[in-house]
Amino acid sequence: MNDHTTEQPAETVARLRATFRSGRTQPLEWRTAQLRRLREMLTTHGADLAEALHADLGKSSTEAFRTEIDFTIREIDHTLEHLADWLRPEPAPVPAHLGADATARTQYDPLGVVLVIAPWNYPVQLLLTPLLGALASGNAVVVKPSEMAPATSAALARLLPRHLDTDAVAVVEGAVPETTALLAERFDHIFYTGNGTVGRIVMRAAAEHLTPVTLELGGKSPAFVDRGADLSVVADRLVRGKFLNAGQTCVAPDYVLTDPETARALEPEFARAVEAVFGADPQSSREFGRIVNERHFDRLGSLLDSGRTVTGGHTDRATKYIAPTVLADVDPKAPVMQEEIFGPILPVVTVADLDEAIAFINDRDKPLALYAFTESDHTRERLAAETSSGGLGFGLPLAHLTVSDLPFGGVGESGMGSYHGRYSIETFSHRKAVLSKPLG
Ligand code: NAD
Repeated sequence: MNDHTTEQPAETVARLRATFRSGRTQPLEWRTAQLRRLREMLTTHGADLAEALHADLGKSSTEAFRTEIDFTIREIDHTLEHLADWLRPEPAPVPAHLGADATARTQYDPLGVVLVIAPWNYPVQLLLTPLLGALASGNAVVVKPSEMAPATSAALARLLPRHLDTDAVAVVEGAVPETTALLAERFDHIFYTGNGTVGRIVMRAAAEHLTPVTLELGGKSPAFVDRGADLSVVADRLVRGKFLNAGQTCVAPDYVLTDPETARALEPEFARAVEAVFGADPQSSREFGRIVNERHFDRLGSLLDSGRTVTGGHTDRATKYIAPTVLADVDPKAPVMQEEIFGPILPVVTVADLDEAIAFINDRDKPLALYAFTESDHTRERLAAETSSGGLGFGLPLAHLTVSDLPFGGVGESGMGSYHGRYSIETFSHRKAVLSKPLG
């Protein structure tokens, strides 16, 4: 914070804990006031944030507003509209042996001081959405933006203290040493978004203090394309979903799973769809982003020969550009199928039929999202019943996380816990059981 830039992590946490203990963050009015100020920050300084996002990721202004700034504003509005309702204590029926005069209820208690650690790929949305959920739940919050999106991190560190209660919200910038120092402190909840390796570090540190964690991780999210699906629509939606933010989206379709005949028929559709969305030369399209840094550029470059190029393949290291690329004839053992791609490369892997597709999915880590394009109710029912994933999207990738009334989170290797809308209140509160029996 402006006045607290030289503070040590222990001092920051102690200061926020004192605010929390004072009861200041409890009243609904304080919570909604913070949300309104956060909203005001986004409406007043949206352009500054969009500029930072462009500097970090080459994000177009349209994309920055759609997927980060306006996204967060919608989540704020939804929360402001329903918060009083969500927080209302819920009566519970009391068993007869306690007598007719006994009553019971559940009530949501704030947890205390929450730590939010955010990644670089949607550095505004993925920091502010947990923050607003934690504030709506009545907590004090330390937020740690990603050092890999430095312009956005600096903009948030400058703007948040100007708008929010600085005794209850602190921004700590930094990389591994700063995060490690923070993790040594005792928090009442840690909300981490990023990769599973660091997720494990976070969970180990949290275990020391018996602090609960939410881990929003990633992984390979498959997109199953059924026989008979309208391939022009499928290719269009896959291209838009996959190549948004140059493929650096945790819920991006990672690979396509389909039968050989559909795979062949999809090839010209993919080439057409890429051109329709990004033009004949995606490198000059303002709507197509860049890879975050050279390390990821080199990692992605080494995955490009994992199959036959259907479209794309072109790269430019100087500008960290990798063309929207579709690869066919990809062997499940190829390098591109061994890790989360997290870039603009879409491999197509073939399976004989739905049974094989389900087995393929279940043989691997539980994905953050599973997508399927099909006209068949039977196929939809089987996928819903026979696979496990954080979310399941039929016909449209990414869209499930824009529904504030749906929980967003992973399962197994893709994470634990969830948030958005009322699920953020569940995550950042303790649901306390209260029983009351009159003395008389
Ligand atoms: P990142 O490198 O920005 O790391 C995330 C955070 O962890 C940063 O704030 C960073 O400072 C911190 N960190 C890094 N190393 C650390 C260490 N050793 N100790 C403590 N903290 C450390 O982001 P990333 O992990 O490269 O993000 C990409 C991954 O995140 C992908 O796997 C993606 O799928 C996943 N992701 C998931 C979601 C989701 O909502 N489930 C959203 C976005 C990204």
